[in-house]
Amino acid sequence: MRLLECSNVNMSYDNIQAVKDLSFYVDQGDYLCIVGENGSGKTTLVKGLLGLMAPDSGRISYIGIKKNEIGYLPQKTAVQKDFPASVMEVVLSGCLNRDRFKLFYTKRDRIIALENMERLAISGLAGKSFMDLSEGQRQRVLLARALCSAKRLILLDEPMTSLDPVATADLYELIASLNRECDMTVIMVTHDVSTALKYAGKVLHMKNSPLFFGSSREYAATEIGKKMLGADIDD
Ligand code: ADP
Repeated sequence: MRLLECSNVNMSYDNIQAVKDLSFYVDQGDYLCIVGENGSGKTTLVKGLLGLMAPDSGRISYIGIKKNEIGYLPQKTAVQKDFPASVMEVVLSGCLNRDRFKLFYTKRDRIIALENMERLAISGLAGKSFMDLSEGQRQRVLLARALCSAKRLILLDEPMTSLDPVATADLYELIASLNRECDMTVIMVTHDVSTALKYAGKVLHMKNSPLFFGSSREYAATEIGKKMLGADIDD
């Protein structure tokens, strides 16, 4: 089942064209990696997919999903690190995304939050302060938060940045198991092309307009794919 589709999407800031004539789609169960150098329009596309920025032309169609059913794990910011809240509060706040007029958490919200903490093996951290966690634990908490608003799709923007190798491997495994075992559709923006391709079934390589959209296997055989896998550009 198709979840969303971009058709000839153009997005810009004043005079800068950030996304140019972009077409691709995401089906239920896909694991899509979005790769490309800095400034290639990945974050702008993420804003478009989340409905935070409208395309100038072209269309982003939500077919099997609504915009507010997309769980989002943002790129790390300093604010998140110093967020003065408990793990439970951070995870619960993901439920707000499902209903923008919501003022209180319901019993069902709490159940969903507890289920997602269980899923990510962080139930034991519920009462802890988010500030006191390791980077890897924080990413798990933020992923649990994203899952509270995700019906079937999670969108992850550079989730491994600043994680140590063990925490990175853990998070990759966790995301892969959500994809495989829970049929969670995954879109991940990443620089880590070689690791990402071990898990992702599809690749969208951006350079304002896409250089490649297709299966990971096909991508690995292209010139640009070989270059990325060899170089693993880290900008
Ligand atoms: P990426 O995520 O791949 O690094 P971005 O989507 O952030 O790429 O940026 C694409 C282009 O849009 C770049 O040329 C960048 O300078 C420009 N851009 C991004 N955000 C803004 C903004 N808020 N205002 C003006 N230009 C921007």
